[in-house]
Amino acid sequence: MNKIAMEDKARTASRELIQRHYLELDAGVSGDRKVVYLFTSGLISELFRSFDFIVTYPEMTAIHSSRRNVSVDLIHDGEELGYASHICAYVKCDLGLMAGPRKGQTPFGKIPPPDLIVITHGGCSTYIKWAEALGNEFKCPVKIIDVPFVREDRQTDFDHVYVRGQIEELIPVCEELSGRKFDEDKLKEILKLTSETIELWKKLLEYGKLKPSPFDTYFEGVTYMAPMTILRGTEEARDYYQSAIDYIWHRIKTGYTPYGKEDFRLLFEGTPPWPRIREFQQMFSRWYAVGVTNTYVRTVCAAVNLKFGPDKPFDFLASLASQSYYNWNLGKRRGFMLDLARDYEVDGIVIHSAKSCRPFSIGQLDMRNYFAREADIPTLYLDSDIADPRYFSSARMQNRIDTFFEALTHRKERRSKGELKT
Ligand code: SF4
Repeated sequence: MNKIAMEDKARTASRELIQRHYLELDAGVSGDRKVVYLFTSGLISELFRSFDFIVTYPEMTAIHSSRRNVSVDLIHDGEELGYASHICAYVKCDLGLMAGPRKGQTPFGKIPPPDLIVITHGGCSTYIKWAEALGNEFKCPVKIIDVPFVREDRQTDFDHVYVRGQIEELIPVCEELSGRKFDEDKLKEILKLTSETIELWKKLLEYGKLKPSPFDTYFEGVTYMAPMTILRGTEEARDYYQSAIDYIWHRIKTGYTPYGKEDFRLLFEGTPPWPRIREFQQMFSRWYAVGVTNTYVRTVCAAVNLKFGPDKPFDFLASLASQSYYNWNLGKRRGFMLDLARDYEVDGIVIHSAKSCRPFSIGQLDMRNYFAREADIPTLYLDSDIADPRYFSSARMQNRIDTFFEALTHRKERRSKGELKT
């Protein structure tokens, strides 16, 4: 069976859920429910769901605008407002949308203004300025949860208690804005759904270990991950991942591989170039190269080891806020990638570095050097952007990718002749 013969039901279902989310947001423009904006790294949406807030995410709006090819217009609007070219394109996209002439109107619905903005600040300082600019525009409170960087192998107990305390301090803020009393049982129920969803999501990604992999965990996985970010803590998200697993099982039973065959197994690091993602995917699929694992989709919970469950709701939330991959030191990220490379038996690593995103691009060249020279894993370093298509050069990109696969092919041939040990 080839890729054309099977409809990607998991992708279709994810898109439908996302459309429903934006319809709910559109309805929220004129509704009574309060709206909270959250940022995706270490987000704690469950707390706000327990107060019946409408929860939305400026980064996700930037991503969906990029995938719909409207990001460049929004970025221009952001630059018209005075945001310079070197600033993160997600920021310019979102501020261009919300503070520019469109006033929140996207092709997929209108984004309601926030009543509250909450950042779990770990790793990316841009979040603070972005949230302040939004708070200034909409005259609403901005709350910052300071999440200490994971300096060693894991978060310290002291840091955990520090983060948990800040989350507990949000309760009176939510009570006052929502007009509802805090209901711990409701929060526990929501977190139970989250816990179940995370387990299913992790299980789904494990299927990349199969040979051949039944799905591309990067190019298909980025669509499968959307409910994990946007709808975490809901029955829809939990049920979605159960159905996605059922669907992937169907692929496994029918011997399906995403590109018809699997010649190369890859580990991807970095956010994809959203406006050109289809073209970028084809540059790999023409070499029958499958992203069997990656760090990007694992940034939403799949990389975390949660010590706490829903019965300890604030410890659970503090773990979710703190254990984002983006909040890890470089050595821990590198070790995690090395484990993934071995566990998923990859032929090579592809690092896509984003011009916009300095916090996570820094160190990627060192990573490339380490993997290629010390770990003997062929590693390709590419750079463009996550939302600004002006930085995507098709010819240059294709040229470098082709050269990489030519070298990988040669390496495989040498290995099959016994000229290379591993
Ligand atoms: S700099 Fe990177 S992490 Fe920070 S907002 Fe931009 S894309 Fe996100």
